[in-house]
Amino acid sequence: MPGYHIPSRQRVLRTLRDILGRRRVVSSQRQLKELLDRGMAKEGDYRVSGPRARRIALDSGLVDMEIECRETHELKSLFNCPVCGHRLKLVKNMTIFGGTVNLGYRCQHCPYWTGLKRRVPTRYIFTRIAK
Ligand SMILES: [Zn+2]
Repeated sequence: MPGYHIPSRQRVLRTLRDILGRRRVVSSQRQLKELLDRGMAKEGDYRVSGPRARRIALDSGLVDMEIECRETHELKSLFNCPVCGHRLKLVKNMTIFGGTVNLGYRCQHCPYWTGLKRRVPTRYIFTRIAK
């Protein structure tokens, strides 16, 4: 049993709003997680995992998420987005010979995309959406 509490989505969102009131950019997933944990510390020992913090921030509509990637030479089929878990859409292009060729995948839910050289996310940058 962990000694800390898993915060509700509401609590994470409230803390995120707080953080974005003070700063415009959070420059990594690790920083996002640390700011959230610190923000919630006043209310108890709450901790949110990095990937969950990222998904909540992405779905909040409060930030634009930019994804930095490195390319690998892995040629593996992808079904689900490595960033948000939604289904990926195969991107095809018609060839002059009347067939189609796979160009890669694009997420319908977040900005992730990849060509046939697989792009692996290495960093996420969250920028407050101006309102
Ligand atoms: Zn996605």
